[in-house]
Amino acid sequence: MVTPAGHTLTIDQDRLWSDLTGLAAITEPDRPWTRRSFSPRFLEGRAFLTRRFQEAGLAVRLDAAGNLIGRLAGQDPQAPVIMIGSHSDTVPSGGRFDGVAGVLAGLEIIRAAADAGIRFNHTIEIVDFLAEEPSDYGLSCVGSRGMAGVLSEDLLGLGGPGGETLAAAIDRIGGDVSRLHEAKRDDVAAFLELHIEQGPVLECTGTDVGIVTAIAGVTRLEIVFKGATGHAGTVPMPGRRDASVAAAKAILAVRDTAATMAAGDNGYFAGTTGVVDILPGGANVIPGESRIIADLRCERRDTVTAFLATIKPQLERIADSEGCELATRLLSDNPPADCDTDLRRLLEAMSEAMGISSLSLTSGAGHDAAFVSRIAPAAMVFVPCRGGLSHCPEEWSEPGQIATGTDLLFKVVQNFDARNSRGILRDKQIDGVRPDDATAPRHTG
Ligand SMILES: [Zn+2]
Repeated sequence: MVTPAGHTLTIDQDRLWSDLTGLAAITEPDRPWTRRSFSPRFLEGRAFLTRRFQEAGLAVRLDAAGNLIGRLAGQDPQAPVIMIGSHSDTVPSGGRFDGVAGVLAGLEIIRAAADAGIRFNHTIEIVDFLAEEPSDYGLSCVGSRGMAGVLSEDLLGLGGPGGETLAAAIDRIGGDVSRLHEAKRDDVAAFLELHIEQGPVLECTGTDVGIVTAIAGVTRLEIVFKGATGHAGTVPMPGRRDASVAAAKAILAVRDTAATMAAGDNGYFAGTTGVVDILPGGANVIPGESRIIADLRCERRDTVTAFLATIKPQLERIADSEGCELATRLLSDNPPADCDTDLRRLLEAMSEAMGISSLSLTSGAGHDAAFVSRIAPAAMVFVPCRGGLSHCPEEWSEPGQIATGTDLLFKVVQNFDARNSRGILRDKQIDGVRPDDATAPRHTG
């Protein structure tokens, strides 16, 4: 089959599309397209994936962190794993492609390889990571954190619906928190994640795929102003301590400071205030307290440090000018994750060889790959999505766009598998095995 971009596919676009629509159909009926992690629909989706994995000849298991893993043993038992994956859970009223595309792309690669009679040296694993989207337990990327060994006791104790802890929820869906250390991996040679871009850049530039340079760090800063409440009609304007006015000025300060950072030579930077609570919230009451949360995304760690150093004196001046007290607190602070340079080069080289256009992009959104990059070389491929929309029912990518990205991943897996098998043996210093090609690239580090 030939894509609109004129590229001849080696994967089966119709088979891939049929699974995308099949899995999408497993949704809360009155709220498409919803498959919340830990819910009955989510487990139905996983049963669908399990069947498809098994039909493709994969051995299927759940790891202790609740990740669904399909495994195809490689010909070289010493070679570490090539892992492909993403997530099958969605946000409420989410889309049909976010996450799912990356899991099914991995599955299609396995099937396309079987059709072509290709046998991999490395073991290939396809992973559906547990709860990538913010879950009802107040945590995202649950499964990939588990695989990276950073799902701490604190996080496992987070409470959710009905008082169930995250730990209990992981056990309920088939994980085993008592053996969580077993989910941590040190045998992955490369991790690849295909994902819809969730932004407009590829569509606007007419580019086939995005090759991700880094997954932005996410820092959330809570800003609380305490003023004085009073009657909106009787308290004169001079001398008011209106906490909502302080919040409004702070929102502008966050926007302006972020815009300055983004315009400088700082890599990708974005700042958004998405939570605004005004208390007590009466039309005839001067707000005595306000709480806002600034969400900061950075490609370079030092830029968020610089942002915080710049915004804090501004917030103090705002509090002073409005007669309010100020309290700030970091709610979360995850560093950016760089994608592996060798894998990025391979993605670029294979795109070029295939005649498809590519662009280097920073991911402003978080992904499982950010956590997996702590334990293995990781890279991401973005495919375009219509209007840059995601996390909404309108989310859409064309069959050919997803198929093109999947085909690129297939070529990269084949190339990596052929080039790195001996390099891996050398790196692992296995007795009696000496690669005759001393220039074989290192896969680790
Ligand atoms: Zn996603």
